[in-house]
Amino acid sequence: MIVSNRLWHHNRSLFQEQDIHCVWQQRINNQQQQMVAHFAVYVDGSVKLTAEERMYLQRVTNLLNVYLQVHQQKEEIERLAYTDYYSTLPNHKYFTTSMQSVYSQRKEGHIVIIEISEFQHIIDLYGRDGMSRLMEQMVKRIHEILPEPILLARYDNASLILCNDGSRDLSHLNMPILENLTSSAYELKEHKVYVTLKVGVSKYTAETHWQEAIHHAEIALSDARKTTGTITRVYDESLKRNLQKEMDLLTHLLEDLQQRKLQVYLQPQVDLRTGEIVSFEALARWNSELLGFISPVEFIRVAENAGKIHKIDTYILSLVLEWQSERKKKGLPMYPVSVNISADHFYYPTFVEDFTKKVDRYNIDHRLIKVEVTESIELNDMQRAKDVISELTELGFDVSIDDFGVGYSSLSYLQQLPFREIKIDRSFINNLIDQRMHAVMRTIVQLSKDLSLRSVAEGIETPEQQQKMIDIGCDIGQGYYFYRPMPLEEINVILQNQ
Ligand code: C2E
Ligand code: CA
Ligand code: CA
Repeated sequence: MIVSNRLWHHNRSLFQEQDIHCVWQQRINNQQQQMVAHFAVYVDGSVKLTAEERMYLQRVTNLLNVYLQVHQQKEEIERLAYTDYYSTLPNHKYFTTSMQSVYSQRKEGHIVIIEISEFQHIIDLYGRDGMSRLMEQMVKRIHEILPEPILLARYDNASLILCNDGSRDLSHLNMPILENLTSSAYELKEHKVYVTLKVGVSKYTAETHWQEAIHHAEIALSDARKTTGTITRVYDESLKRNLQKEMDLLTHLLEDLQQRKLQVYLQPQVDLRTGEIVSFEALARWNSELLGFISPVEFIRVAENAGKIHKIDTYILSLVLEWQSERKKKGLPMYPVSVNISADHFYYPTFVEDFTKKVDRYNIDHRLIKVEVTESIELNDMQRAKDVISELTELGFDVSIDDFGVGYSSLSYLQQLPFREIKIDRSFINNLIDQRMHAVMRTIVQLSKDLSLRSVAEGIETPEQQQKMIDIGCDIGQGYYFYRPMPLEEINVILQNQ
């Protein structure tokens, strides 16, 4: 049987020259009736086939026909099984199958997962086809920069996976390789698209199987996602330990939150001149039965990363409201309380509505609840921030800018956003002895006065700091020198004696 057409013609003339004659010849067609092969029988000299022999050869031809079709279908199925559905790239299955033979030959190399951060936007704008075209272009660039043999495949919607066999150290797949993948645009339907990449890298060895290395690269990738911009993270054991710790912490946190086991502490804010308590800041406290005392710095971050921070903020708000409505019922003096709201929560589409409903359910005057947003809140969506703050202000909630001075554009925020209060960060108070810092502080306090903002100095720990802040013209102080954050029962006692 001859499958190639060229060979067929060549052989035929060769046989004719040698006086070898064709006694049987049949085309073999595929399902689309295209010829894919010739089945022919040549005999030296002249022979005439009997009817029986013809019948036999016809049967063989039929069998060959079936065999060829099955073979081609198998090839097609294999091609489909190893090719990505949307693109021409090899897929995940291809990668894992090929890795088996790569690993059996050499037990050392790197696994790299490259993820395109903007993948969701790209799919929304240009469809899955668009995303696939972009990935194909990226693969081409990778092959240009890494000419040595590498195994490369599409890993999922957003990422590519590659492996080299250890001949080049890919562990620091950073600039300039990534530079090449990100510095110029990809072309999609007459549009130019720039991308940001997160890269997770791990090593496989005789001890660490490649499958485990893929898992490690995933862990490194998750860690890379925490940082903005294009970035590579190389796996090390501590990443896995931290991840496990974070997962455990989050599980316990959510359970305890559900069972209302978190507490709220209030820290008094005092009139700097008289020392009289004028308001409070509400701070979350978590004393886990299993993990012990965990600082809010830690569990707030974990909750933020997991997208669960609104649960904490809302819960703390209800504890504050319960406390206030208790005082209201008893006819006791009322004090404004500030609650901390994380950026994610602040930008939540129904935040203002949910927040207001909650406060109204307890029938508490809006002026008694303040919203603290930290300055490091990504105020990059200036218009949205402005809208939310204006809405809150119109509803009677004061909005306070926390940790003022830590970010870079604090002063421009002040002008553009309708805050009612600034909280000067503790790091400034700590450095008051520094002459220049003193001058900066004075300017900040003066500016806030000009803009009719209340200024609160955070983290006052000494009488000298108190005096300095008074001299500068600051109104309110908060810090261990006056009061530490305390449970509600202690606050009630202090207020009774005030
Ligand atoms: P923050 O809003 O800047 O809160 C002030 C932090 O400074 C509190 O730490 C407080 O205990 C501490 N502090 C107060 N006075 C002094 C002082 O004189 N010296 C020193 N060294 N520290 C002082 P805490 O309670 O550990 O809270 C840490 C951060 O956790 C808070 O920083 C806030 O960003 C966040 N947080 C706490 N509760 C919540 C919450 O319910 N929701 C959200 N989203 N974040 C919260
Ligand atoms: Ca705060
Ligand atoms: Ca603060």
